[in-house]
Amino acid sequence: MPFANSLRMGYGVNMTTSQLFDIPLTRTKVICTIGPSCWEKDQMAELADNGMNIARLNFSHGERKQHQESIDKIHSINEGRLLKVAIMQDTKGAEIRTGDVDEKVKVEVGDDVVFSPTPLPKEKRPVIIVSYDGFAKDALETDVILIDNGEIYLEILSVEKNGSVVAKAQQSGAIGSRRHISLPGADIDLPSITEKDWEDIRFGAEQNIDYIALSFVRTGAEVESVRKLLKKLKSTSKLISKIETKKSVDNIQEIIEASDAIMVARGDLGSDLPFEQLPVVQDEIVCRCKDAGKPVIIATQMLESMMEHPMPTRAEVTDTAHAVSTGTDATMLSGETAAGIHPVLALKAMKRIHKATEAHLARLEIVYDIRFSSRDEEEMDSAVKLAEEQEVDVIVLLSDTGRTAHHIAKFRPPVPLICFVNDPVVQTELTLVYGCYPIMIDFDESDEVTMDNGVELALKYGLIQKSQRVLLLRDRANKPEVVNL
Ligand code: ATP
Ligand code: MG
Ligand code: MG
Repeated sequence: MPFANSLRMGYGVNMTTSQLFDIPLTRTKVICTIGPSCWEKDQMAELADNGMNIARLNFSHGERKQHQESIDKIHSINEGRLLKVAIMQDTKGAEIRTGDVDEKVKVEVGDDVVFSPTPLPKEKRPVIIVSYDGFAKDALETDVILIDNGEIYLEILSVEKNGSVVAKAQQSGAIGSRRHISLPGADIDLPSITEKDWEDIRFGAEQNIDYIALSFVRTGAEVESVRKLLKKLKSTSKLISKIETKKSVDNIQEIIEASDAIMVARGDLGSDLPFEQLPVVQDEIVCRCKDAGKPVIIATQMLESMMEHPMPTRAEVTDTAHAVSTGTDATMLSGETAAGIHPVLALKAMKRIHKATEAHLARLEIVYDIRFSSRDEEEMDSAVKLAEEQEVDVIVLLSDTGRTAHHIAKFRPPVPLICFVNDPVVQTELTLVYGCYPIMIDFDESDEVTMDNGVELALKYGLIQKSQRVLLLRDRANKPEVVNL
């Protein structure tokens, strides 16, 4: 399948043909987190060659300069490519982390461990510095502390007057720098969007970053407040809300309405809720997003064991396949690409699972249950049904604003959707959307000429092939047309 040619148009890295022809045009997208394991330009290019759709920069880590360098590298990799890698900024948000340490703090099961926002030089017990002054006050609302979403679990014994908290370790382990600390169930008394976040968002807007993912969002109003700033800055960045607290689950509908897309960030969410509730909450959020026509991402620990191992666990394969079979728009790799030893293998594994699952994806009942909220959506539901009945190989759409692409994606087409667009903002926006492969072309006065030119380009770069059956659609004249190429 010559799809890889289209990905690699004009980018000069030597690769063997077998590598080039190995990338499936899966409908579910992949987001890769950039970190020490993949931040050299050739490493990022290899991820792009293997189907990374969006690169995520986590502003919980690293300096702005480092992220700036990653942005520049991705822009340079994108030059001349038909399909671009979009960029996502992920804000730090109101999180609590351990302070920087030279050596990991060793903790044995049964140890009393002291958590304090300030150093306690006279303390004999192990001390963990926390990044948040109000830690002790919020700790009163819960009984346990989780390190790294449950790697180490401690039961709170006492909250001290000096602002420290003493807790008994239920496991042994070593606690390093900038590790996650959670107080399950406590409503953390920090603003969701911190001073650092506002500055980072300004930086993201200046850089024209495609997506800004807001960590620890709690209400729709918070999303609106960021949107207001973006509007003031004349930014076209799309806003993704990360659902990672119980509070955000409680307010899910207003958050979906205020956001351009949603991320189910299962790490912190699985600490804040009893973990057994996670699968139901995840599926519920996916359904609600599909109903609202907003893209949804499933994130965290999808192929976690691949940080060390060349193959995923069978449970991870099944979890990822589950996300795909519910019709999520994208799955995300975190530590697997950022800090693991097999970043490219992890991405390849993810794509293999997407491909295999999509091949057997009978349209599920929940897909049929999706409601249309406008006449345009109803028409695109019919178009998707037509694509199915006519057994087309691909849908091709000429789209001014990307709206029609969203409408088609909402009904989860059984084949990829190639969209010809003439606005780079629409192109990057559609990069996250289920099944959409947006390509920039010059628009002619005549839609027919534009369509012909687009099809020719797609044929040239192997996105569609001569023998295929194609459903042609146009934004303005929604008269579907099935043609054999
Ligand atoms: P979050 O809860 O925001 O996802 P995280 O610590 O889980 O935070 P990930 O983005 O999931 O971070 O990445 C996994 C790991 O990869 C991080 O814990 C960190 O060790 C490493 N990492 C990610 N991004 C960077 C970076 N920009 N610089 C250094 N290390 C990074
Ligand atoms: Mg974060
Ligand atoms: Mg993470």
